[in-house]
Amino acid sequence: MTTATTSSSIPASVGRFGATSDAFTTFSDARHWIGGAWCNPISTRVTHEVPNPRFGKSMATVHLGGADDVDAAVKAGAAAQREWAEWPIRDRAHVMYRLRELMVKHIDELGWLVSHENGKIFGEAKAEVEKGIECVEYGCSLPNLAAGNQLEVSRGVACEVVYAPLGVVAGVTPFNFPLMVPLWMLPQALVGGNAFVMKASERVPLSTMRLAELLKEAGLPAGVFNLVQGGREVVEALCDHPQVKAFGFVGSTKVARSVYGRASMAGKRALCLGGAKNHLFVVPDADVNVTAENVVASFTGCAGQRCMAASVLLAVGDVDHILKAVRDRAAKMVAGKDMGPVTTQAARDRITSYIDAAEKQGAKIMLDGRKASADAGGYWVGPTIIDGCTPDMPAAREEIFGPVLSVVRVPTLEKAFEIENANPYGNASSVYTTSGDIARRVMGRVEAGMCGVNIGVPVPREPFGFGGWNDSCFGAGNITGWDGYRFWTRQRKITSKWALQRDQNWMS
Ligand code: NAD
Repeated sequence: MTTATTSSSIPASVGRFGATSDAFTTFSDARHWIGGAWCNPISTRVTHEVPNPRFGKSMATVHLGGADDVDAAVKAGAAAQREWAEWPIRDRAHVMYRLRELMVKHIDELGWLVSHENGKIFGEAKAEVEKGIECVEYGCSLPNLAAGNQLEVSRGVACEVVYAPLGVVAGVTPFNFPLMVPLWMLPQALVGGNAFVMKASERVPLSTMRLAELLKEAGLPAGVFNLVQGGREVVEALCDHPQVKAFGFVGSTKVARSVYGRASMAGKRALCLGGAKNHLFVVPDADVNVTAENVVASFTGCAGQRCMAASVLLAVGDVDHILKAVRDRAAKMVAGKDMGPVTTQAARDRITSYIDAAEKQGAKIMLDGRKASADAGGYWVGPTIIDGCTPDMPAAREEIFGPVLSVVRVPTLEKAFEIENANPYGNASSVYTTSGDIARRVMGRVEAGMCGVNIGVPVPREPFGFGGWNDSCFGAGNITGWDGYRFWTRQRKITSKWALQRDQNWMS
């Protein structure tokens, strides 16, 4: 059912990614996947290199698509969706069971692919695949969760609720989790009976391509999942396309806000997750080792390129002994072994410019990652701790998206709440304390959707839903868990009267 032009030079399969180490490895160029086959863009001929951030050189080329490719993908989805929706939910979920088995079988291959195109170290990449598998497992469980309700509401009259698909739906994903974020959306949307058009980040298009092939191998009919490569033009075409009924987005706040408005104006259901500036509260009674271990893991993991990463440490009172332990632990991290590079040279420049500016404004660089390097080339920034930030400094206010922890010293918890509550984001917040009372007070006051006690990355694991508040999320609800299923489906209410009429009321 491929409606986009195909060419004989396009391989029927992208094969397996051959890397088993960090050594530079090239891979197939990125193409669209429409109607169950690889294809070229219809008209746009712009290409974009896929950088391997560890080496700073291209491992593949993406052929960026346009509105005509989106239209071809939506048409392929629409043609396949009706029959897919007629499969019983249990049969649709069986595709997820088989996908899970394939992901487990190919976990190392997938891990290396994520590691090479994104830059995160192999252990982190494999953990990303494992988290993606958990999302697929949630999809497997949907037949047990998605039973509707039925009730005899009047003598002989029954009301019933069933979850119906929306039709063709779309998702757009960021660079920092090439495999996991697509799997935040796909299991619920597909098991819900929809066809999907996805646009992966043009910086990391390769993992999603492999996912397309694994879905096919798992038994997903051609056209139910489609992938259009591209950038802004493709995203805007998805927002505008009248046949796309729901639009999911994960990326920066600036883009999330704008595409939420655009998709909503076009009459679509939209859920758009944005950026973050996560605050950690550290109080004097906190356990030194637990705090140091978790804070360092949070701000350096994935080189700080996580929407759940620690970004501002609110040091309440005298916590110098804890800050010293955080610094000592972070200083031991080895670039290339414990931590990967950041995504591009532009990202490196942006991150170091925040450190330079904070230093000029009078903050003290307690640990300086500006000179970090590992492999030849590549975009490296080491763990950095900036002490003595004031709340108005850009390093303390804006999303840096790198391995940088900005320390703001405050005399009281009240002052800490004031600063955390005033930041426009609302993704995550954590407290480090041995006091249940302090933990409860912080959990009750922070402006964040995902909160942690003595944990650095408080990601709600399945079946709990993932989603922030305020400028970190436009639209209602969470993107994973049951909210995800509700987002990608609509409720049909059926009222039936089969029995002979035996009484009279307003329904008669
Ligand atoms: P990004 O906003 O630059 O890009 C995200 C997607 O939007 C990509 O597919 C990109 O091609 C597309 N895009 C970029 N500019 C666009 C534009 N002007 N119009 C339409 N589409 C556009 O984000 P990124 O750099 O890929 O990812 C990092 C950001 O994502 C960070 O801000 C991070 O906090 C955020 N993020 C948030 C969550 C969450 O759950 N809240 C999860 C992961 C990442």
